[in-house]
Amino acid sequence: MERPRDFIRETIEEDLRTGRFTCVHTRFPPEPNGYLHIGHAQAVLLNWGIAQEFGGKFNLRFDDTNPEKESTEYVEAIKEDVRWLGADWEDREFYASDYFDQLYAWAEELIRKGKAYVCDLSPEELSRQRGQPIQDGDRLITPPGVESPYRNRSVEENLDLFRRMRAGEFPEGSRTLRAKIDMAHPNLNMRDPVLYRIIHAPHHRTGTRWCIYPTYDWAHGQSDSIEGITHSICTLEFENHRPLYDWFLDQLGIHHPRQIEFARLNLTYTVLSKRYLLRLVQEGYVSGWDDPRMPTIAGMRRRGYTPEAIADFVRRIGVSKAESVREIELLEHCVRDDLNRRAPRRMAVLEPLKLVLTNYPEGQVEWFPAINNPEDPSAGTRLVPFSKVLYIEREDFMEAPPPGYFRLAPGREVRLRYAYFVRCEGAVRDASGQIVEVHCTYDPSTRGGDAPDGRKVKATLHWVSAAHAVEGEVRLYDRLFRVPDPLDVPEGVDWIVNLNPHSLVVLTGCKLEPSLAEAKPGERFQFERKGYFCVDPDSRPGHPVFNRTATLRDPWAKLQGKA
Ligand code: ATP
Ligand code: MG
Repeated sequence: MERPRDFIRETIEEDLRTGRFTCVHTRFPPEPNGYLHIGHAQAVLLNWGIAQEFGGKFNLRFDDTNPEKESTEYVEAIKEDVRWLGADWEDREFYASDYFDQLYAWAEELIRKGKAYVCDLSPEELSRQRGQPIQDGDRLITPPGVESPYRNRSVEENLDLFRRMRAGEFPEGSRTLRAKIDMAHPNLNMRDPVLYRIIHAPHHRTGTRWCIYPTYDWAHGQSDSIEGITHSICTLEFENHRPLYDWFLDQLGIHHPRQIEFARLNLTYTVLSKRYLLRLVQEGYVSGWDDPRMPTIAGMRRRGYTPEAIADFVRRIGVSKAESVREIELLEHCVRDDLNRRAPRRMAVLEPLKLVLTNYPEGQVEWFPAINNPEDPSAGTRLVPFSKVLYIEREDFMEAPPPGYFRLAPGREVRLRYAYFVRCEGAVRDASGQIVEVHCTYDPSTRGGDAPDGRKVKATLHWVSAAHAVEGEVRLYDRLFRVPDPLDVPEGVDWIVNLNPHSLVVLTGCKLEPSLAEAKPGERFQFERKGYFCVDPDSRPGHPVFNRTATLRDPWAKLQGKA
């Protein structure tokens, strides 16, 4: 297998060379407090891909240490998404909550070694005493923190208090267990960090067995260690936590994985944080976590993205140590590229206008072969019915066309794809002046779509036979936000103002070629000249609903040219 070159793989190769590790074992550690998004997809595919490339193992581990925000619904959704992305964890599905007993025992061990103490400071006092960076001229300095008055409790008192914390004797927030490290450490994470806090809330897996819960820092490294992880790959915001990660493992003297950080994915026109995505869901700005406009895996799947397109995107962006924002056009380019190769072509008229062939025999039907996929000859052809009354796109006819408009207009001839040349004889209006019908004559000698005398037309239109059309609904999506950096708002302004009010347009009464009556949820098509579409689970028999995955126009190449 060809292995990408990057600093993570190089570090791993080095570790294998020097014998620090003899195998590779990675993990993806989601917190089940929301659905996965495209940033998580990068982390999933990175960790799983590395395990594959090095012939190693890959764990799925739920980092379930905040019971109030987590749920089984999220656990199930995450599993479905990881599976769909193609990352197979086999039977290696783990939960930090499975280690609560071990983590608790290790905490007592630290207490016994005089390396941890029970602290009665409130969360506010605790954070005040830890200190924070302040501006000193043009540099940022971090004055030493203040030691807790509870720091020098005896081992016996600490053990007693910690056990009583566990037994539920104290109210939430009244006490914590803290590591005893260094309140003057330049790294704030090393200033006596919290290992346990009291939370009187049931956990989705451990029920009411616990009322103290480990923090991320206390749970994460030790969970990695228990599972025999060799390389604990995470995003850059944990770089400052690495000294603590290492300190805990050293104090306990247990298997010591290497933490490696990379820059998290950011995308233009997108927010990528469960906190923000949760708000969009809870406040009803979208229909749910799987709304096709969401950057969640579930949303992208419903929109018609393929796991291959997402993997291609992740491969193209690679990994880096430097924060950056990637262009959403690249992601869209990847899905177009993939669907262009595999999506069957169909004809669908989204905003129909009736076209009547005045010289075509009443009641006659011809079935024309249509190419399923010009990129894939093995996809073959299908037959499409043609008759006297058809539908074309409303935008494909203009009574008074401006310069540069080459489609249908009075007196003008165009090709109806796979069928005939037709010439426009005029339009019919209703009482309100709206054009309701276009009248054309067809040239029988152009059967199949070419003129024997070699004459050319400047446009080829897609169409659907009115008598055979299936009626459906089409949902056109645009970007959820109308600015590249949605969270960039002046102070006091809510980022919600950056939502794109036109991100969803629902078209009903669309006319689809009859083969689409059979389409199943999740199936993807290219509607000729209109874009890529995917069947939505809202579809009912006889009434398909399609989501537009992407338009055909691909601004990525142009964007690249400019750069
Ligand atoms: P969010 O900020 O969206 O809530 P998180 O980091 O809190 O994300 P976790 O469930 O803790 O979410 O993340 C699981 C894994 O996914 C972590 O290893 C994390 O580093 C990684 N991850 C999260 N967001 C991104 C991102 N935008 N790009 C790359 N990896 C990410
Ligand atoms: Mg998190």
